[in-house]
Amino acid sequence: ADRDGPRIRHVDYAAPLDVQVQARATLERDLRTGIDEERFSVVYQPIVALAGVAAALDPGTDPGAAPAVVPVMVEALVRWEHPDLGTVSPGDFIPVAEASGLIVPLGRWILAQTCRQAVRWHQLYGDAAPRMSVNVSARQLQEADFAAEVARLLAASGLAPHRLTVEITETATLHPSCVQSVHALRALGVRISLDDFGTGHSSLSTLQTCPVDEIKLDRAFTGTCTAPDGRTVAAAVIQMARALRLDAVAEGIETPAQAQRLRELGYPHGQGYHFAKPQPAEAIDALLAAGTPTVAAH
Ligand code: C2E
Ligand code: MG
Ligand code: MG
Ligand code: MG
Repeated sequence: ADRDGPRIRHVDYAAPLDVQVQARATLERDLRTGIDEERFSVVYQPIVALAGVAAALDPGTDPGAAPAVVPVMVEALVRWEHPDLGTVSPGDFIPVAEASGLIVPLGRWILAQTCRQAVRWHQLYGDAAPRMSVNVSARQLQEADFAAEVARLLAASGLAPHRLTVEITETATLHPSCVQSVHALRALGVRISLDDFGTGHSSLSTLQTCPVDEIKLDRAFTGTCTAPDGRTVAAAVIQMARALRLDAVAEGIETPAQAQRLRELGYPHGQGYHFAKPQPAEAIDALLAAGTPTVAAH
């Protein structure tokens, strides 16, 4: 059961070392070819204003009805169209791309694509267009000229810096060179989001060493937010976000009950299969053509 199609077999650590090394080398070689031949695509998953879905969550309405999805932001998620394996999930190739350094040219390609797409939507829908959120690895942020590269891509595409959010992980905040890039990005006006919040070992100290504009509650906590203990955790995180004046997105919302609970707790934004799966740009166009956001993006 896999939502993203066939997966690359994970490296079998029981296998002899030369076999593991061989598998890695093959994957790395394929990745290199894939980058040269642009065999990657980007899908976009809506992030919605939870206040805006209140009507769809009203018990009086059909509980089976799909909620109206009006993305105030979209998260860009990369896919690899492998000639033999079909669509490969990022969980299966991003680690290899990071270890080999190939994430640097791949990430540059992703940023160029997503900036262009964000401008297209802005031209069509003005300020009702979704802002763009892009995942960036620590390996990319470690490049001394990363922020300069982003500035160049923004200028080349014509995207306003505040329309771009860079999603970082806690790992990145442990490297001084990454934190430097974060400061430089914020100086440009780019927003920073701390992804998978709560799963790291030092989420709170991270917020002291690295300035961010937004946190994304890890889907592990979304999954437990309807249980008494889980509710307390999700509540504590939003209280902290409010105290620090950070935007908050709850990720991995799969049920109406989770959406309702997170909305009650005060999460301004949510994302997950309950609202919409990651989808090609054309499918997002259909959503945008169908409605305008009920809550303005800031
Ligand atoms: P992430 O940034 O935390 O992205 C969220 C992941 O959760 C995505 O998986 C998304 O498809 C999945 N997801 C969304 N809603 C739900 C839900 O309701 N339930 C469940 N079970 N899952 C949900 P995906 O696309 O496979 O990406 C996995 C990870 O790969 C991402 O986690 C991110 O860390 C990394 N990644 C994806 N695209 C890129 C990229 O362009 N660059 C970099 N550096 N990393 C990327
Ligand atoms: Mg993310
Ligand atoms: Mg995440
Ligand atoms: Mg994740």
